[in-house]
Amino acid sequence: PATSMEELVSLCKRRGFIFQGSEIYGGLQGFYDYGPLGVELKNNIKAAWWRTNVYERDDMEGLDASIIMHRQVLRHSGHEATFSDPMVDNKKNNKRYRLDHLVKDQKADVIAKVAEAMGQSAENFPAVVAALNANPAQASEALRAAGVRDPFSGEVGEWTEPKPFNMMFKTTIGPVADDESYGYLRPETAQGIFTNFKNVVDSTSRRLPFGIAQIGKAFRNEITPRNFIFRVRELEQMEIEFFCAPGTDEDWHEKWLEARLSWWEAQGVPRSKIEILDVPKEDLAHYSKRTYDLMYDYPTLGHEEIEGIANRSDYDLGSHTKNQSELGLVARVEENLDSIAKLTIPHPETNKPVVPFVIEPSAGVDRAMLAVLSEAFTKETLENGNERIVLKLKPHLAPIKVAVIPLARNKAELVDLARSIKNDLQKLGLGRILLEDSGNIGKAYRRHDEVGTPYCVTVDFDTVGKGEDASLTDTVTIRDRDTLAQERVKISELSSYLQAKLR
Ligand code: ATP
Repeated sequence: PATSMEELVSLCKRRGFIFQGSEIYGGLQGFYDYGPLGVELKNNIKAAWWRTNVYERDDMEGLDASIIMHRQVLRHSGHEATFSDPMVDNKKNNKRYRLDHLVKDQKADVIAKVAEAMGQSAENFPAVVAALNANPAQASEALRAAGVRDPFSGEVGEWTEPKPFNMMFKTTIGPVADDESYGYLRPETAQGIFTNFKNVVDSTSRRLPFGIAQIGKAFRNEITPRNFIFRVRELEQMEIEFFCAPGTDEDWHEKWLEARLSWWEAQGVPRSKIEILDVPKEDLAHYSKRTYDLMYDYPTLGHEEIEGIANRSDYDLGSHTKNQSELGLVARVEENLDSIAKLTIPHPETNKPVVPFVIEPSAGVDRAMLAVLSEAFTKETLENGNERIVLKLKPHLAPIKVAVIPLARNKAELVDLARSIKNDLQKLGLGRILLEDSGNIGKAYRRHDEVGTPYCVTVDFDTVGKGEDASLTDTVTIRDRDTLAQERVKISELSSYLQAKLR
C-alpha cells in the first residue's frame, strides 16, 4: 500500500487519473477532474457497487434523481436548519476554518490545552469536538487560552466565536431571481430516494423489506476542502436507503455492516484496514438511532470515514410525509404542512400502513477511489535490483484491461495485426483495451504497471512468421502485471484465455 498521500497525488497527476479542477485558471479549491484513467477507475468502482447492491440482490431497486431539488425538500429534511459546520475566523487575516479541523491541525500540546479548557481528554478527540461545537463561547475562550495558531500564517490567531456555516449550495431557478425562485444542489443523494419512495413503491409493487440504491453527485460547500479528493466540494456518493419494518431495523443494520465490509474486501480494501466506529450517542446526527462509521486507514491522514452506515429510524419518511400525527412516528420530526404524499407502506405482518425504518449505507466514490488506489499502490524491488511502481488493482477495477503492443511501431505488419487483435478483444465487453504503439516496449510495460493494466499482449516478428522460431507463428506474448511471467499464447486462444483471467 501507499505510505504517503504525496506519492498517490503524484501518480494520479502523472498518469492521468486526477487533475485539479479549472487548473489553467489557477484551480478551484475543492474541485477535481477525473482524467482518462480516473474516469475508467471511477466507473468501474461504481459498476462494482451497483452489481453487488442492485443486480446480485432481490430486494433492491435503482434510481437516478435530479441534482437540483425543491427548497422544501431540504427544508423538511432538516438540512436548512442543521446542515452546518462550526466555523471560526482569524481576525488578523480574515482566514476561515472549520473549528474541528483547526484544532486537529495544532501541535499536541496545544490540542491538550484546548481539550483541558473544554473539560475533556485530548485522547478522545471526538468528545473534544462535540464539546467545542456545543459551547461556542467557551470554545472561543479555549482557542485563545491555548494559543491556537493559524495553519496558513503559522502565527497565533485572534479567533472569533464559532458560528454555524450552512454547507448547501443555493442556486437561482428560472429567469427571475426573487425570494421564491431558488433551489439547492443536493448535499446528499439520499433525499432523492426519500422523495421518490412512493413512486418506486407504486411502480414496482415492492413490499418490506426492500431498498433503493443511487449513485450520483452531491455538493457541499466545505469550509476547508483538503487532503486531495478526500474532502471536496463536489463529490459523488453511492447510497442505499433500505426500508424495513420497525423492530427489524437493528438486525438489518448488522447485516448491512457485514455486507458492506465484504464489498470493500472484494475491491481490495481489507477489513484489517477498516476500523468500525460505533458512533457514541452524544455524537450522533439528530436523525440517527445508531451509526457505524467505517474508518479506513488512509496514508498520511490515518483513520478517516470512508462510509457511514446509519440507522435513521423513521425520521426521513416521517419528516417528508403528510398526516404526520396519525402515523405513530418514533422519531421527533418538524411539522410538515407542505407535503402532498403519505409515505407509508403496508406492515408485512399486520398489513396496516406504517412508516418504515431506514438503514442507510452511504459511501463516497472519491474516498473509495483514494482507498482503492492506496491499497493497490506497490513499490517493488525486482530481481535485477530495479525498482518498479505497480498498481495491483483487482482486474475488475483496472482502467485498462489489456494493452496490445506491437514490438515496433514503424512496422505496419505488426501494428495492423495488433490493431486487429485489439478490436477483437474490445468486442468481448471486458472494458477498455488499449492499442499501445507509442514507444519502446520497456516504457510501455512501466507505464502499464503504474496504471494497473493486468495484461500486456505483445505482437512481435515471431507472431507474423518473420522471427527465428517458426513454431511461434500466430502466437503472442502475454505478460502478467503481478508475476511478470510471460507466456506465449495462440492468437486463436487469446480471447478465451483473457476472458477466463479477467472475469
Ligand atoms: P465528514 O465527517 O468526513 O465530513 P460526513 O460524516 O459529513 O463526513 P456523510 O454525511 O456521512 O459524511 O456522507 C457519507 C459519505 O459521503 C462519507 O462517508 C464520505 O465517503 C462521503 N463524503 C462526505 N463528505 C465528503 C466530502 N466533502 N468529500 C468527499 N466525500 C465526502
